[in-house]
Amino acid sequence: MREERVNVKGYSLRVYSVNTVVVGSGAAGLSAADRVHSFGQKDVVLITENLLWGTSRNTGSDKQTYYKLTLAGDVRDSIYDLARTLFEGGSMDGDIALVEAALSARAFFRLVELGVPFPHSVYGEYVGYKTDHDPKQRATSAGPLTSQYMCEKLLEEVKRKGIKILEGYQVIGILTDREKRKVVGLIALDLKNLDNRDNRYVLFNATNVIYTTGGPAGMFYYHSVYPTTQFGSTGIAFEAGIWGKNLTEWQFGIASKKFRWNLSGTYQQVIPRYVSTDQNGNDEREFLKDYFPDPSSMLNAVFLKGYQWPFDVRKVENYGSSLVDILVFYETVIRGRRVWLDFTRNPEWGSKDGELDFSLLSKEAYEYLKKSGALFGRPIDRLKKMNQPAIDVYRTHGIDLEREYLEISVCAQHNNGGLHGNIWWESNLEHFFPVGEVNGTHGVYRPGGSALNSGQVGAIRAAQFVVKNYSQDPKNIEEFLSEVEEQVLKKIELGERLARRVVGRSNLAEKLKEVSERMAKCGGILRSLEMAREGKQEAITSLNNLVDSVELSSIKQLAFAYRLYDILLTQYVYLSAIENYIEMGGRSRGSYLVHDPTGKLPAPNLPEIFRYSLSDESFNRRIQRVVYRDGKCEFFWDPVKPIPQEDNWFETTWNAFMKDEIFKKR
Ligand SMILES: Cc1cc2nc3c(=O)[nH]c(=O)nc-3n(C[C@H](O)[C@H](O)[C@H](O)COP(=O)(O)OP(=O)(O)OC[C@H]3O[C@@H](n4cnc5c(N)ncnc54)[C@H](O)[C@@H]3O)c2cc1C
Repeated sequence: MREERVNVKGYSLRVYSVNTVVVGSGAAGLSAADRVHSFGQKDVVLITENLLWGTSRNTGSDKQTYYKLTLAGDVRDSIYDLARTLFEGGSMDGDIALVEAALSARAFFRLVELGVPFPHSVYGEYVGYKTDHDPKQRATSAGPLTSQYMCEKLLEEVKRKGIKILEGYQVIGILTDREKRKVVGLIALDLKNLDNRDNRYVLFNATNVIYTTGGPAGMFYYHSVYPTTQFGSTGIAFEAGIWGKNLTEWQFGIASKKFRWNLSGTYQQVIPRYVSTDQNGNDEREFLKDYFPDPSSMLNAVFLKGYQWPFDVRKVENYGSSLVDILVFYETVIRGRRVWLDFTRNPEWGSKDGELDFSLLSKEAYEYLKKSGALFGRPIDRLKKMNQPAIDVYRTHGIDLEREYLEISVCAQHNNGGLHGNIWWESNLEHFFPVGEVNGTHGVYRPGGSALNSGQVGAIRAAQFVVKNYSQDPKNIEEFLSEVEEQVLKKIELGERLARRVVGRSNLAEKLKEVSERMAKCGGILRSLEMAREGKQEAITSLNNLVDSVELSSIKQLAFAYRLYDILLTQYVYLSAIENYIEMGGRSRGSYLVHDPTGKLPAPNLPEIFRYSLSDESFNRRIQRVVYRDGKCEFFWDPVKPIPQEDNWFETTWNAFMKDEIFKKR
């Protein structure tokens, strides 16, 4: 990597010239840097806002899952079986499903070799369990913090290899050639030098960019179980001309707010009380009972939420477990109340003198609790018996479930869609590779754990392609500057206008709240054409007015102002995608319900807005893509690509491999 200083229209700028820049230090980014270096390209740098930020580093769950080919026992499995499972999630390209399946074992064993403690049996079998949308037992876990271990071990490896890391840099723009055919670099803020105009902006003149900025969590900030340090940077990629894909597809579920944690598994199986209060914590009432026909169906729906955690519109009917999400959403987002889980008492409905009537439970729920020795006491007693660590995790975050209520909401957890990439994870703009959650490889449903697999597989693929095809040095500096000068000046001009808004007080938190309230209302589990239209319009208006309306307390907040710009742009494109999906006739599927006045109500006394019908299957065989251009979104729909059926004759493949013919675009 070469460092130079240049002057662009009076701005003194540092420029780093390098073959490959990896942006982001989550599991995907660290893996990509490691792979590029291992495969032979030593001129690689990893840049990140902060090594301790992002989803992988800070996220966990009961048993955080990694999905891969079956590697234990005598259950039959194959690359094609796994590819089919991924593909059958709907709106997923079959070629990408095949690659994710084919490389899952390789990606997994790399992590094993690096020391991620995935458990194996006495005979060395990597035993698995069944996760959601998984017909086999392909899931594994290193415990509640699998992705954190992955980051730690990958970072050790990146450091061991001596790969250059630039921490404290926030990318604010992706630079392309004049024709917008390929990406040629980046512009970033040097976060340690925001108060120094000559060091505030930094350019990267790069042959390749591997972009691993994670899910666009900032839009849902206050309705999200993503860590507070994850915002994403998808908006600036749209701005550069990178296509979005399946942007409508997310995963939502019930999570706690003060400490962000998914409330799946035992938290629901012990059947806590769901209570709602006004904003001040008064006027407490158990609200679920207003919508279920009898205590039995209410208790069973809560129990089932344990292993049916993500909101799934197919599980709403007949008082299914996903009705609970709808009721929590209605109470919080529409009725403006607060909702809590109380583990200290049994639900009133279904109890007598404070004792739960276990005979009201379905056979499944009853047997489960019986086998767990938990047919007694209060929810907290059952939780203690079945899963003490579930209580401890809250205690270590200052929440005592034995005494206090846990505030919850329906939260965004994962974006299945994202930026477009091909089977080498290269986007529609050459030399730019979105990898990890920012890349929308998944469709409507995906097996739990496949997100982490996708990031590791994408890292291998992007690295292979870069090393085999794009090993040339970056452009000389004059040529680079002549291509990007206009784009750079535009970004700096935005920054300097924002910098003039330093007025000693800040409204950034307020603005972030506004964005996330809008997203929960218009792009969460309940959607309608009108709400998407309204939300999209508000988003673009806020974006256009940002510079005039934002207030920064100090220049240190410039980074956040740029982030807000990115979040608003992202929100505009995402809400436009929802609008387009509904206009095209798309209805409820996956993790959202689309209002349909001719559909049915999930429960008779819910308002009309919840009337819905399921989408017709043909939508799962198509993929919506979007390009953002001059403030407008253009959409195009393609049929999903089938899973390739290649004749993998060994000698033919070997020959093609030896001649590097396989490392080509198709
Ligand atoms: C509560 C929860 C539970 C989950 N459980 C599972 C599970 O069990 N199994 C599974 O497969 N998946 C799970 N997921 C999803 C999975 O954890 C994520 O998809 C994955 O960790 C994302 O990794 P990543 O490397 O793509 O992005 P991240 O880990 O989010 O990393 C993004 C990185 O980019 C940096 N960055 C962003 N913008 C910029 C910028 N402009 N400039 C510089 N740096 C930038 C960030 O600081 C960060 O370092 C879960 C997610 C959540 C929230």
